[in-house]
Amino acid sequence: MKIPILMYHQIGEQLSPGAPFRGLVVRPAAFRRQMAFMHLLGYQGLSMSALLPYLEGKAQGKVFGITFDDGYRNNLELALPVLQRYGFSATCYAVSGMLGQTNAWDASHGVAQVPLMSAQELSEWIDHGQEVGSHTCDHLNLPQLDAGAQYYQVTQSRIDLEASLPGRGQVRHFCYPYGALDAATVQQVRQAGYFTATTTRRGRADASSAQNLLLLPRVLVSRRTTLAHFALKCFSAYEDRRGTSAY
Ligand SMILES: [Zn+2]
Repeated sequence: MKIPILMYHQIGEQLSPGAPFRGLVVRPAAFRRQMAFMHLLGYQGLSMSALLPYLEGKAQGKVFGITFDDGYRNNLELALPVLQRYGFSATCYAVSGMLGQTNAWDASHGVAQVPLMSAQELSEWIDHGQEVGSHTCDHLNLPQLDAGAQYYQVTQSRIDLEASLPGRGQVRHFCYPYGALDAATVQQVRQAGYFTATTTRRGRADASSAQNLLLLPRVLVSRRTTLAHFALKCFSAYEDRRGTSAY
């Protein structure tokens, strides 16, 4: 049994043609169709916490994971109403040192700057049944850092997010920026106490206790993903065979 964990970034309307990475901005209508499609088939979309028992093989059911990288405000504005409509939950991975700012790490690549959720907005996200995970403090490429700096990015981001979101539980799920990791990175994530960590490796997760919960593959949904393509990615071995990074 395979479990797709969907990887989204931004939800938004038309962007300027030729803008780099605009493929990572999914139209609201497309997102709505994708969620409606899964709901129609009897599948429930779950945050990483809610999905964990299924990934561990302790629970069985028609489920899939929903994740949003980077913590864009448009997730709150445009994705949340759709998630609520179908009773789905999702995990949004926030960059703890950049709450309420913009995706500045992308600026040198010419990527349009858009707002990230503030602590207040992330609290709202949680209060509406959603989850916040960590995407480090500064969205850096972890394997390029020395051990001390990696430790800081992985561990301090969790501490800071929990402090920024008082009364809203622990941050137990992690996402590697750029999908970049090595053995030392995974060890840091384990020691920081994260229950799961998602990568940009393409494929569906296994519904079994045997898999490495800190190296979970995901299914990328982009602006170009048609509904037929979406179905193929979620319900066939199409994505599993790709086996390469999403970027
Ligand atoms: Zn990211």
